[in-house]
Amino acid sequence: MFWKRAKLPSQAVPTGIYSELTRWLPAERLITDPSELRVYECDGLPLHKETPAAVALCASRDEVVGVVRWCHEKRIPFVPRGAGTGLSGGATPVPRGVVIDVNRMRNILHIDLENRYAIVQPGVINIKLTQAVESQGYHYAPDPSSQKACTIGGNVAENSGGPHCLKYGMTADHILGIEVVLPDGEIVRLGGPLADNGSYDLVGLFVGTEGTFGIITEVTVRLVPTPQATRTYLAIFDEMSRACRMVADITRQGILPAALEILDQRVIHAVEDSVFKAGYPKDAAAVLLVEIDGFEAGMLEEEESIKRIASDSHAIELRVAKDGKERLQLWKGRKGAFGAMGRIDTDLYVLDGVVPRTRLETVLQEIYKIADTHGVKLSNVFHAGDGNLHPNISYDGRDPDERARVFKAGREILEACVKAGGSISGEHGIGVEKMDFMPLLFTKEDMELQIDLRHAIDPHELSNPCKIFPDSKGCIEVGKRQAHMVPL
Ligand SMILES: Cc1cc2nc3c(=O)[nH]c(=O)nc-3n(C[C@H](O)[C@H](O)[C@H](O)COP(=O)(O)OP(=O)(O)OC[C@H]3O[C@@H](n4cnc5c(N)ncnc54)[C@H](O)[C@@H]3O)c2cc1C
Repeated sequence: MFWKRAKLPSQAVPTGIYSELTRWLPAERLITDPSELRVYECDGLPLHKETPAAVALCASRDEVVGVVRWCHEKRIPFVPRGAGTGLSGGATPVPRGVVIDVNRMRNILHIDLENRYAIVQPGVINIKLTQAVESQGYHYAPDPSSQKACTIGGNVAENSGGPHCLKYGMTADHILGIEVVLPDGEIVRLGGPLADNGSYDLVGLFVGTEGTFGIITEVTVRLVPTPQATRTYLAIFDEMSRACRMVADITRQGILPAALEILDQRVIHAVEDSVFKAGYPKDAAAVLLVEIDGFEAGMLEEEESIKRIASDSHAIELRVAKDGKERLQLWKGRKGAFGAMGRIDTDLYVLDGVVPRTRLETVLQEIYKIADTHGVKLSNVFHAGDGNLHPNISYDGRDPDERARVFKAGREILEACVKAGGSISGEHGIGVEKMDFMPLLFTKEDMELQIDLRHAIDPHELSNPCKIFPDSKGCIEVGKRQAHMVPL
């Protein structure tokens, strides 16, 4: 589907009405100027853009409550926003809606290492939490490659992953409690630092709901001890298929590495030509980053296994990071890969499909073929251990023909993942990007059940409407874009 910028339907909201929000926050933190609003027209997915009516830069829970209550009273939709690094359009504004930005709520409120948890505001940047506790031997495990920018609130809303989630689990495995401002402005606290209280897992229900259940204003997260020893390897291959086979062999032999990440040749070139240069060989067809961690005593045995499997998989070379500096250097390329892709073209569409590990090789071949058929520039960098592919399409967003081809290729790629027994999202969520692909995975009844659940929390679909589900009742077609109905 080719989406056009939405035009406002006839029952447009009088623009002056948004200035009422200055009752809850200072005027300088309410944006209504059209040129400033453009900053918020998309997240990390530039294929979908929409200008909001207003952006409320909230700095406290009370401000969030005030803005949400006002939206509820006026039946005006709102979109929660953290750092805006999402890759599925979750924070894309809706027409006439208010973006509620919680980026300024950045305090780490409490750290308890004896009980291994921390309480943070939603705008805390992911890596800042680890930096606050690492000198004491702890860290916050979920590490999206965007961790220098993305917020913990955004991570909870997307149930984000990251290279080390292979061993340590996704965000959902690390969230103990949350405070949420529900879509009518009511504040609820779910879970807490102590283990399960025996009731329904309501924290689990809220994690991954992409801002459709209200706004998270506080998060209690698990902290985990930093492993005693870590080893990082770079396996170099002249064929992508061999790198994929090494991944399957490692897991088949019962080894659970901390991370298994593959980069293809186009990504290697982009990285090596950029400030994220990591020393990856440019003539390699693929490189596989392998990291193991645990007790020092067990390292030698696992290292021997990795060496043997690399040799059996016909790796041209297996490099070992000699020290922490070399380890960071190897990771710099992987973590900076999406940024480096800015060298290939003006825009980047990062897809997020999952396949069984054993199907990586064949699905990748199919994906490269789809890209050739549509004449789009494809590269791949992905969480191979999880079977979580990130096919990236670099394109010029100003060229409508190229954009149309990007949409077509994107759809076919995700269809190929589903056909291989996989899924349309490993960690980036559905947002606006994949709403139309939900029927590939779910029946009408499955989706209705999920929408009923949503309506139990947000009957008017005010919180991040027109996302996730293709046929939400609160949305109407405006051009080819869905817009929330505002009954004024
Ligand atoms: C270079 C790059 C690398 C990335 N690597 C990874 C990766 O390895 N793994 C991964 O999983 N993702 C990755 N991402 C995607 C993205 O960083 C994550 O989805 C992240 O969790 C988004 O956080 P954010 O603060 O930017 O949220 P936003 O983009 O602002 O919002 C994301 C969603 O969460 C909702 N939301 C935000 N804050 C709140 C809140 N307080 N309450 C309720 N809802 C809220 C929004 O409405 C939206 O639906 C990457 C992105 C980039 C640009």
